[in-house]
Amino acid sequence: MKKVLVLEDESSIRSFIVINLRRAGYDVIEAESGEEALERLKENPDTKVALLDIMLPGIDGFEVCRRIRATNTRIGIIMLTARSQEMDKVTGLMTGADDYVTKPFSPAELTARVDALLRRAGGESPPQTGEIHQPPFLLNTRNRTLEKNGVRIKLTQVEYSIMRYFMENPGKALSREEILDTVWGRDYFGELKIVDVNIRRLRLKIEDNVQNPIYITTVWGYGYKWGF
Ligand code: CA
Repeated sequence: MKKVLVLEDESSIRSFIVINLRRAGYDVIEAESGEEALERLKENPDTKVALLDIMLPGIDGFEVCRRIRATNTRIGIIMLTARSQEMDKVTGLMTGADDYVTKPFSPAELTARVDALLRRAGGESPPQTGEIHQPPFLLNTRNRTLEKNGVRIKLTQVEYSIMRYFMENPGKALSREEILDTVWGRDYFGELKIVDVNIRRLRLKIEDNVQNPIYITTVWGYGYKWGF
């Protein structure tokens, strides 16, 4: 069963989301505060995707996201943002979210986003085997892990997918559109900017000096290149 957590303090919005996700075939668990969401996730470790509202009484959605990511890199996280919270989008992504949806959103848009994250979480793709070794990096495609100089680097599923795409295409300039299509899927609704936000975060994890990246280099006006 595809289990999804919905954290939203406004009951009318929460019901709207829950009803539509259930209609789409998801097993939905609900929480109206950040504390409750963390508790529900502990009881439901098989949850695949969490939808987190940002403005909440008590701890906010960003803090919930941080706390989830501290122990769980596999779960997909989508932030629910209000239209006026443009900056919140970026901040939310930097703390470990995979995606964001701006309110008001249609049920179709929401389920498309959740579906995309579930696909990426690997539940439906055939198991991959093997390793890609490009010193100092070692990508294990069986365990979906990355090591740099033998030290494990914790990646989200999105970051892993980007790394894999890069390492399968060393030295090749990849456009932001190609990265978006490959990692998020061709039917993804979102914006190209999400590629940049995730790559900025990936650089923080893998580069020796973020100010002067040497592994993921920018191809100006086009996209990015993996190569050194
Ligand atoms: Ca709220």
